[in-house]
Amino acid sequence: MALIPMRTLLDHAAEHGYGVAAFNVNNMEQIQAIMMAADETESPVIVQASRGARSYSDDNYLRHLMLAAAELNPKLPIAMHLDHGNSAATCISAMDMGFTSVMMDGSLEEDGKSPASWDYNVGVTREVVQAAHSRGITVEAELGCLGGIEDGQGAGLSEEEAQDHLTDPEEAGRFVAETGCDALAVAIGTSHGAYKFKKKPTGKVLRMEVIREIHQRMPDCHMVMHGSSSVPKELVDIINEYGGSMPETYGVPVEDIQEGIRHGVRKINVDTDNRLAITGAIRKAFMEDGSQFDPRYYLKPARAAMAEVCKARMLAFGQAGHAAGVEVKSLDDLKAFYASA
Ligand SMILES: [Zn+2]
Repeated sequence: MALIPMRTLLDHAAEHGYGVAAFNVNNMEQIQAIMMAADETESPVIVQASRGARSYSDDNYLRHLMLAAAELNPKLPIAMHLDHGNSAATCISAMDMGFTSVMMDGSLEEDGKSPASWDYNVGVTREVVQAAHSRGITVEAELGCLGGIEDGQGAGLSEEEAQDHLTDPEEAGRFVAETGCDALAVAIGTSHGAYKFKKKPTGKVLRMEVIREIHQRMPDCHMVMHGSSSVPKELVDIINEYGGSMPETYGVPVEDIQEGIRHGVRKINVDTDNRLAITGAIRKAFMEDGSQFDPRYYLKPARAAMAEVCKARMLAFGQAGHAAGVEVKSLDDLKAFYASA
């Protein structure tokens, strides 16, 4: 199946009350792991690449690997999304390279670090929405700032500082109306990376009420949870058991994500958990047999470990079993839809 616009997947998820995991990729094994999990669970798929991934792998490799995934899995609807575009130019270059969805993160300025003004965010998001929708491409925007930094993107806010940059539900309504974005990333106290919370998060730090209130005001708004790896202790333990040195850390519990899905969250970004699974499997392989030197010896278990994480998330978020139900729409179909809206 051809790569399809992400909006189609989000609309179907909203209609049927489930969420879709968006997994970050940098190479072939990660894409294969996602497709193995999606094939097994019959899930629709969102694969995303950050600016860091694009410079690491090159757009041409990413695009052809994604086209291979689509070719090999004709029954699975797949969207290819740009994670955290920092400017209109970045988003447009992704559109030119075959991405069917882009995120314009105007919550930060073009440097990807400084929290931006309302006017800047609305202006640059609207510009990207116009360019994208004229091609049938989906746009995710962001209002409010998450903590942490990942792939050079982020204001570097601490867990405490992130509490001062939560998404304001009233502003969210105005923002979506003024920009016309298809999906909105919300800040509810989470961070990018593995070190989200120093202890198991309570309602004081993970502010699920923000999601509930936005959903109440805008029941049709597709919300996106960023920084939503759960950082399972067992994955961190494997890394540390085989020579790693990761301090104790906590992520976003799967139950809280499921609560979000009941209130309008349709896309959940997961990267760290897959990184942990891959690193643990490779460390284990190295420690278990130091005589091996074929990359397949450690990349194969790494890929299988990531596929297990993807499968677990697909089941937990409710996307499993929904691949066949998604009505396949082309970029041209969406182009006509936006033009008539
Ligand atoms: Zn993010």
